Amino acid sequence: MITTIAWAAWILGTLALGLSAGSFLNVASVRLPYEKSILWPSSRCGSCLRGLPWHANLPIVGYLRLRGRCHWCGARFSIRYLIVELVAGLGFTGLFLLEVVADVRGAGWWREHGHSLRHGVVPVEAWATWLGEAVLFSFLLTASICDLEHQEIPLEITMTGLAAGLAFSMALPWPYPARLAELKAAEAAHRAEHPAIYRAGRQVPAGFRAEPALGFPGLQPWPLAWPLPAWLAPGTAVYGLASGLAGAIAGSVICRAIRAVYGLGRGRESLGLGDSDLLLMAGAFTGWQVVVVGFFASIIPGLVLGVGYLAIRGTQALPFGPALSVGVMATWLGWRWIGPSVADLLFDPVIGGLLAVAGLGGLLLLSLLLRITRGGEESSMASLD
Ligand SMILES: [Zn+2]
Repeated sequence: MITTIAWAAWILGTLALGLSAGSFLNVASVRLPYEKSILWPSSRCGSCLRGLPWHANLPIVGYLRLRGRCHWCGARFSIRYLIVELVAGLGFTGLFLLEVVADVRGAGWWREHGHSLRHGVVPVEAWATWLGEAVLFSFLLTASICDLEHQEIPLEITMTGLAAGLAFSMALPWPYPARLAELKAAEAAHRAEHPAIYRAGRQVPAGFRAEPALGFPGLQPWPLAWPLPAWLAPGTAVYGLASGLAGAIAGSVICRAIRAVYGLGRGRESLGLGDSDLLLMAGAFTGWQVVVVGFFASIIPGLVLGVGYLAIRGTQALPFGPALSVGVMATWLGWRWIGPSVADLLFDPVIGGLLAVAGLGGLLLLSLLLRITRGGEESSMASLD
């Protein structure tokens, strides 16, 4: 009975927190593109400029009670306020159900804390991990709304997100929440079994799947490299900073490289700089592997969103931020299934490098082909597209 009440309280609590976050993100995504302060003044009607009564500020309820109209002048508020609040609320609860209850990332909450979880007590480490995911989710949601509405992602969002990501990365460095002693014991056993892998710090991709490093997914599922150099001890703030920075740089570089190569071939811009800032921010939370794979994974939601966008707005200028957000979050949560199949590519500099060169070469060819068949320069768009 008490257990049921406790779990119901966690689910309702995360929902309420998410709805309130959505309320705040609404204000932020309306004001930031115009470089207005998000703290002052309080929420007001865009039509008559009068401050909203307190009950109109309540998430969902406030909107429904006034049927989406201003309390004073009756002007209509966009349905997006309601949608963003719902998405944020369901997102926070969804992350709680996936991360803590279902343990999709394999952090081992139930293995380590099964007894307390059964009684509705969620360990602090699980809350901290959930919070990290919820914070990145909030930043991605805000960035996506701005991208959809203004075709740009304000730097205030991505740079604040970068700082938050580095802070989480330093506070919860890999292999958090696994115990370091456990990791060290697993590593020592592995080292004794496969001495060749560790000789001279060489990384051997074949057999990486059996590495102890993969058995300890933290907020960042994988270590920066393995084996780690001696000066970069896992579980320290310095390691966390290095790992967060590596993720940020990887996210930004992969986006900029593809943008540059495509632009070179086609003579037209593809991804915006806001997209590369979005991945810069996400990489600081997730580490470099998730953000690199997430970039490619975002092609799938990108196609779905692109078709929908084309049907509704009838334009080709598709904002890619929402697709990147979905791609990164899905890759992060599904890393237990995605990670092992790309381990050999990501940890072998030779195979990974060859693949990157081949991929960029292919993209250059494709963009040149598009330039020849469909026209290149921006000015010729109207007549040729
Ligand atoms: Zn009004």
